[in-house]
Amino acid sequence: MPELPDLLHVQAKLDAALRGRRVASERLTSPVVLRALVRGNLSLLLGRGLEEIRRRSHFLVFRFEGLDLAVNPMLAGRFRLGSREDKDEASLAFALGFEGAGELRYLDDKSMGKAYLAPAGDWKAIPGLDAGGVDILSPQFTRERFVSLLKRRRDQVRAFLLDKKALDSLGNAYADEVLFAAGIHPKTWCRSISHDEAVRLHDAIVEVMRHAVEEVARRDEPIEVKVRDFLKVRLREECPRCGSKIRRAGVRGMDAYFCPRCQPATRSGLVDWTKTGK
Ligand SMILES: [Zn+2]
Repeated sequence: MPELPDLLHVQAKLDAALRGRRVASERLTSPVVLRALVRGNLSLLLGRGLEEIRRRSHFLVFRFEGLDLAVNPMLAGRFRLGSREDKDEASLAFALGFEGAGELRYLDDKSMGKAYLAPAGDWKAIPGLDAGGVDILSPQFTRERFVSLLKRRRDQVRAFLLDKKALDSLGNAYADEVLFAAGIHPKTWCRSISHDEAVRLHDAIVEVMRHAVEEVARRDEPIEVKVRDFLKVRLREECPRCGSKIRRAGVRGMDAYFCPRCQPATRSGLVDWTKTGK
């Protein structure tokens, strides 16, 4: 799944390359990906100029004159900017050619992503787009706002962090990273988190995400590449802070990565890895 820093990088690169340009061609090779909320298909975009690209939740919304194309890449979707002469990828789902700017391709190995073609600004019918979470990179994401959201929760902290209705947005990778930065075990119940810990978690989200956005932009890889090698616990073997072996725990069917020493369990009934001698 693309994370916020990945999406912001893709958004910036595509905006620089495509904004103001008109659609000159379209190809739909995986019809299952397209959901038309208007009568018609991608050919409706022909001749229309791209006015802007917005990021909301885990979507990129391509705003054309009178029509929006909202893409939710789900698990495996990726964008690529290429030329119309490039060989088609096996995972190509659709492509839009732009006047004087090559071709925007959407690739999806799993065909789980969705592209919604909708009347401009009419996002209500697009599942998950207007989830309503507070943008964690915006000035509205204050300590007070975060603490008040957290206090209302009855679930585990990692599930809360992933809830797009609360926060816009964290995926599996950065949920692990911010919990590590704050020293909080992923299975901690929200209601058992103290005010000080909540503030620490808020500040960790701001710091980790700002750094990640800067790092992904600085590396400036092609947009189909996910830059993740600077992450500290996600998919890692050893804690960069204390050297302990990184552990995995299932949180609502998702694998969480954490350091048992830097993020000690506070709930009874959880395995205390610091006492097993391993
Ligand atoms: Zn550690």
